[in-house]
Amino acid sequence: MTTENYDAIVIGAGFGGSACAGLLAHKGLKVLLVEKNNVAGGKAMSLSKNGHQYSPWPVMGAPVESNWCQKLLDDLEVADLATLVASEAGSYYKTPEGSYEPMPAMEGDGVDPSILFDWLGVEEADREGALEFFMNLTLMAPEQIKEHEGKDFDSWIKEANLPRSLYAFIISLCLDGMFMVPVDQLDASEAIRSLQDIFLRGGGLFCLGGYGKLADACLEAVKRHGGTVRMGTRTDSVLIEEGQVKGIKTSDGDTFLSSVVISNAGIQPTVLKLADEAHFPADYVAKVKNLVPSQSLLGYRYFLSKPVTENGFGVVFSQTSPWNTERLEAAHKGEGSREGVLYFEVPVNYDPEAAPAGKQMILTGSFCPPDPNMSKEDIKAWADAGEEIFFGLFPDAQDLVEEKELYTTKSVSNATRDATVPGAGGETIGLAQIVGQCGDSKPAIHTPVNGLYLVGCDAGGRGIGTQQAIMSGYNVADAVEKHVKELAG
Ligand SMILES: Cc1cc2nc3c(=O)[nH]c(=O)nc-3n(C[C@H](O)[C@H](O)[C@H](O)COP(=O)(O)OP(=O)(O)OC[C@H]3O[C@@H](n4cnc5c(N)ncnc54)[C@H](O)[C@@H]3O)c2cc1C
Repeated sequence: MTTENYDAIVIGAGFGGSACAGLLAHKGLKVLLVEKNNVAGGKAMSLSKNGHQYSPWPVMGAPVESNWCQKLLDDLEVADLATLVASEAGSYYKTPEGSYEPMPAMEGDGVDPSILFDWLGVEEADREGALEFFMNLTLMAPEQIKEHEGKDFDSWIKEANLPRSLYAFIISLCLDGMFMVPVDQLDASEAIRSLQDIFLRGGGLFCLGGYGKLADACLEAVKRHGGTVRMGTRTDSVLIEEGQVKGIKTSDGDTFLSSVVISNAGIQPTVLKLADEAHFPADYVAKVKNLVPSQSLLGYRYFLSKPVTENGFGVVFSQTSPWNTERLEAAHKGEGSREGVLYFEVPVNYDPEAAPAGKQMILTGSFCPPDPNMSKEDIKAWADAGEEIFFGLFPDAQDLVEEKELYTTKSVSNATRDATVPGAGGETIGLAQIVGQCGDSKPAIHTPVNGLYLVGCDAGGRGIGTQQAIMSGYNVADAVEKHVKELAG
């Protein structure tokens, strides 16, 4: 049994935990990072198999310009360890007639409305209104965006009366994937900020070798600055005495002491399982239990004997693919169509080293509920809905599949957060960015237990998954630095 003392202990090496640990070590704190998996990166980890290198599911970043990933690599002085690259989108609009129309190339990183309108068949009479909508959206000032906090995005966009194809482009191609929540619950301020990001600063950011390289680079920064990283080590409990955090106990039976513990394990697993709800006020526990997770993705990794596409990634959507609460609830119950948006990512098309010569591996993902204990029948029904779109788009791929692997919400939960509350654990993002769970209503990074902090997508950030996790890492690192300085007097 080991007993060691640290300035701060971080549980979990997802993007939030890795970023926070790296930044704290860089600031000179004595840091311990404990991760249950043997690889870092959590939901954005990297895997390799038979000469292929990839994320376990499609993970694409945005914005391309001024993103948190590059800032982090630069600030930690590890930019040589992870290389970010931008890939051209190869998205497709499935027309009401059933043909797949590829998205035309755009100049620069942003979106050119007139090219977009041509592609989506927007009538001349509708263009002026649509253009005004885009201007409003992209030029909206931060204080105006803040006024949209607590309001749903669907009500706002519907005021613009956009043609259905353009509405579907914004909801399905852009927002469904960024937030994984039904649009009539999506917080409008989150949506508007992130749409500004991708329209003005581009989407389709990847990391050579998979996004996990970025977390690996953070762990290297921890070590370079005298910190300790323990991989393959699960935290079993957070030690608390009289409202003050004392450290952690691992499944190996080791105890590590610190007055600051930062958990990247998710707010529900942290409060209800690792720390034990008895240490928190009843109203806080009730609030934590009622938090709503984002929806999830499931899909396949198709290992193909030869390439079927030159795109680095793509999104396939139609006028009927946007998800709202009514449609999602009906689909969950098996009473409505499961046809939604489909994402695909082709690592070898933005990273020539990512596959053996002549081969291609494609990752797909389509919506499903976050429940890691979904029945086999439900998994099949959701996976079939995505596969139908994939083979509709790339019919030649059917005969080229050498191997295919299904990943599910169970795979996501096993690789990341424990299932603690019924129906949650396999969520794609973390906490759903819905009305009542964003901005001022988002859980705080501080918990009622002194010294116990939350980092990652459940607290301290905003925006698109990987970006919000890193932003949270920065905010928590700043708060913890202050806390540790105060303790030192
Ligand atoms: C299928 C899928 C597709 C996605 N696509 C995109 C995308 O295209 N773009 C995008 O920006 N985002 C995407 N995301 C979301 C994004 O990856 C996540 O929102 C983000 O990476 C979450 O980071 P995090 O720090 O909050 O936590 P997580 O990634 O959940 O990391 C938590 C870490 O804590 C560890 N941990 C948990 N419990 C313990 C314990 N008891 N002891 C020790 N360690 C523990 C876990 O093993 C894990 O490493 C996707 C996610 C999924 C699942």
